[in-house]
Amino acid sequence: MNRPVPPAPSDAATRLARRAEALDAADPLRGVRDRFVLDEAVYLDGNSLGALPRSVPDRVAEVVAEEWGRLRIRSWTESGWDSAPERIGDRLAPLLGAAPGQVVVGDSTSVNLFKLLVGAVRLAGDGRDEILLDADTFPTDRYVAESAARMTGRRLRALPPAGIAAEAGARTAVALVNHVDYRSGELRDLPALTAALHEAGALALWDLCHSAGALPVELDRHAVDLAVGCGYKYLNGGPGAPAFAYVRAAHLPRFDSPLPGWWGHRDPFAMSADYAPHAGARRLRVGTPDILSMLALEAALDAFDGVELAAVRAKSLALTDFFLECVGELVPEGAAEPLTPAEHARRGSQVSLRCPDAAGLLGRLVARGVVADHRPPDVLRFGFAPLYTGFAEAARAAATLGELLGASRRGPAGNGGR
Ligand SMILES: *Cc1c(COP(=O)(O)O)cnc(C)c1O
Repeated sequence: MNRPVPPAPSDAATRLARRAEALDAADPLRGVRDRFVLDEAVYLDGNSLGALPRSVPDRVAEVVAEEWGRLRIRSWTESGWDSAPERIGDRLAPLLGAAPGQVVVGDSTSVNLFKLLVGAVRLAGDGRDEILLDADTFPTDRYVAESAARMTGRRLRALPPAGIAAEAGARTAVALVNHVDYRSGELRDLPALTAALHEAGALALWDLCHSAGALPVELDRHAVDLAVGCGYKYLNGGPGAPAFAYVRAAHLPRFDSPLPGWWGHRDPFAMSADYAPHAGARRLRVGTPDILSMLALEAALDAFDGVELAAVRAKSLALTDFFLECVGELVPEGAAEPLTPAEHARRGSQVSLRCPDAAGLLGRLVARGVVADHRPPDVLRFGFAPLYTGFAEAARAAATLGELLGASRRGPAGNGGR
């Protein structure tokens, strides 16, 4: 069966492609793309799995051959494996607006959520018997919060994020909120909500999975109490990269982890029968760190060297603005409705479009070299990683989407095939 011939680019598509060229030429982060392994595909899924930084493969090969292969057990001390979680946490800290000594890398986001949520309830004390939860949260956060509430005997209340400030009160121990909504791409007002929680005497636990590495976070400046986030999205640490946990320095001495493993002990190799937490952020650790993944993440962070987060944010907003404009011009009216707020202050680094048959459409996009993703039931997500995504890619993605949706409008014969 013949595939339908794609329609010739419209005048609008040609004009937008020219604008994209000019925007790419003027992009101050343009050269940073060369720090990544990419190909002709338009890769707009860095919010799910960041692209591979060129700094990673040789470093991983060296760790395997030299540090593991030759030095073996000596590497725990001689190659710095022992302190890698804190060292890489401190390397990451500037991207989170955190001073050193508060961030540890390791475990998954889900595990860190558990540690920090139960730890927050313990910090808040017995008088506070409820946990507030972002009702739109990524599911793992909800599953963990339900179990943490059950274990600690707290009541869990899921609320729309915009309603959390008003509902926080004398009974609230902690609120767990996603900084950027994974489905809609909406950015929440971290400074205002953190301040409102503090006003109520409650703690703020932020999930930064979709903001770390994509926009400035400023944890210290806004006195955020606790935060977690993911290493494999905008931080490009690789599949299953360790996550991170942040606990504000002022809370660390009292932070009582519900998973007090031996690596969080003050002196792990004393092999003491009694648990005594390390004085610093090291108490957030549990068991033996996953060194290979961790050192891959460390090497991946080289991609951020010399990059200002303000420039990352400016480019992210310009890219998502431009993509929304292209969608507005090239996609038939009503075929794909933006779910992502138009307002810059409420936008993360992705654009979500609501389209019927998002799953089928995604397959046709991928077949045409535009890699995005889909969240049920009807959301297409386009992630813009400012370190390596260009304006021409935004234009090409929108033009491809416009062709596919225009074709399907014209009737079942034009369904693009797969
Ligand atoms: C990606 C993501 C996670 C992932 O959790 P893992 O335990 O690392 O698999 C958790 N929460 C949010 C909000 C996410 O976007």
